[in-house]
Amino acid sequence: MNQHAKDIQPGPSSLQTYQMLIGGRWVDAADGETFDSLDPFVGKPWARIPRARAEDANRAVEAAAKAFNGPWRTMTPSARGALMRKLADLVVEEAERLATIEVRDNGKLMAEMHGQLKYIPQFYYYFAGLADKLQGAVIPTDKADTFNFTRREPLGVCVGITAWNSPLLLAAYKLAPGLAAGNTFVLKPSEHASASTLEFAKLFEKAGFPEGVVNVVTGYGQEIGEPLVTHPKVAKVSFTGSEATGQRIYEMAARGLKKVTLELGGKSPNIVFDDANLDNAANGVISGIFAAAGQTCIAGSRLLVQDTIYEKFLEKMAAIANAAKMGNPMDPGTQIGPIANPPQFEKIKSYLEIAKGEGARVVAGGSVATRPECGTGQFIEPTIFADVHNQMRIAREEVFGPVAAAIRFKTLEEAVEIANDTPYGLAAGVWTQDMSRALLMSERLQAGTVWINTYRAVSYTSPFGGYKRSGLGRENGMEAVEAYLQTKSVWISTASVVPNPFVMR
Ligand code: NAD
Repeated sequence: MNQHAKDIQPGPSSLQTYQMLIGGRWVDAADGETFDSLDPFVGKPWARIPRARAEDANRAVEAAAKAFNGPWRTMTPSARGALMRKLADLVVEEAERLATIEVRDNGKLMAEMHGQLKYIPQFYYYFAGLADKLQGAVIPTDKADTFNFTRREPLGVCVGITAWNSPLLLAAYKLAPGLAAGNTFVLKPSEHASASTLEFAKLFEKAGFPEGVVNVVTGYGQEIGEPLVTHPKVAKVSFTGSEATGQRIYEMAARGLKKVTLELGGKSPNIVFDDANLDNAANGVISGIFAAAGQTCIAGSRLLVQDTIYEKFLEKMAAIANAAKMGNPMDPGTQIGPIANPPQFEKIKSYLEIAKGEGARVVAGGSVATRPECGTGQFIEPTIFADVHNQMRIAREEVFGPVAAAIRFKTLEEAVEIANDTPYGLAAGVWTQDMSRALLMSERLQAGTVWINTYRAVSYTSPFGGYKRSGLGRENGMEAVEAYLQTKSVWISTASVVPNPFVMR
């Protein structure tokens, strides 16, 4: 791979300047345009990112197509797996640097990024192990004198489009199964957090991947995302982001009959029964809604609490929320970092007003954080709204911030009804010590993931994805690789004479 990367170096205006990876070369956008990426804790630009458009999309897809039909296709699956293992080793080596860049670019906590960077290599190791085990079958057919077998083949060029909240982890969800299956990729991170993906892309060359197997382009959704999705040489789009963008991508992909995986938003219920261990439940509910400042798709943003413990439980939650340490995300002690970008900050603020206007009662937070330790960053106080009912906008719409909407319920039936009365179905949590109740709930909740007495557990080994409007398809686990494969059926005649040509065999 020819590589002329400018290592991250201060550009003319002392911003770090980045280039994109296309066909093994580090390049600017074709028209040389750039945009600035903000450090959300400082509130100022820190990096300059190429602003790619259709011409760049075309170059990247052509490079991925060339690699797919060239060296990647002819490489043995075992060799592909070995490259993926090497890549994972390099992520381990580079973990600190990658973590630091992501914290700077989107304000995630260093403590969380240390955990993520330890975990991300596991996705590549796991799927590397699958690369040479994707076997077809010999089919016992009903036709005389024939031999029929299947081949499990890759789809071709896949486009991975990721959200800003966890760029490297979300990329691993797509690249690890997709590469193991033998596909090539064009990856497009969010315009709000591109730097860590560009840094990560440098490891493909170091690991020895053929050029063009993974390409990374950066820019805005309409300018570079749409030309990628609609490019005729793209076979599949794997998208993580909002419901609205997911719909748009689904429509565009449909016109080209492309395959899609869509990982979208949620309004996940976290349900606390009165027999739960309330200390554990409080910690679990807090992690469900305030981790990553609530900027996670699986945020347990609808808190359903049984009537008998409603006020007592909210008091417990409020005490933890009010004591949470906010501040510099680089500080390992910080528990709640800044909101990752200005549009998201504005959106959360508007939902605080919407909830108050709907008559929700503030139990904790409810405003922008002005604590001195928040400096010039954009922070929201961890917020709990009480007296919410399920028809309020604060209970129906995804806020994607540290805002819990607490709803009362009396019976299991009522809890199920409220929990399922949502267009979404990404995840749900249940807190109870009664295991038969827990199992019943796991059966009745309409969500792709149900956690019992825990929250936010996600693994490379376990399928992850949404029911209803939270998405299509699954990432992670053995199922994920199926989304990057197609089956070919091969027939061989063992007869010495071809029978009547006018009759279907
Ligand atoms: P978004 O939809 O605004 O953007 C996601 C990505 O799509 C970005 O890279 C963006 O540039 C690109 N994009 C935007 N418009 C496009 C278009 N017209 N064509 C092609 N690409 C386009 O979402 P976001 O604000 O970055 O992320 C937050 C959302 O992501 C939340 O709804 C959250 O729930 C969801 N999310 C879901 C999961 C999951 O696994 N289900 C994980 C993380 C985040």
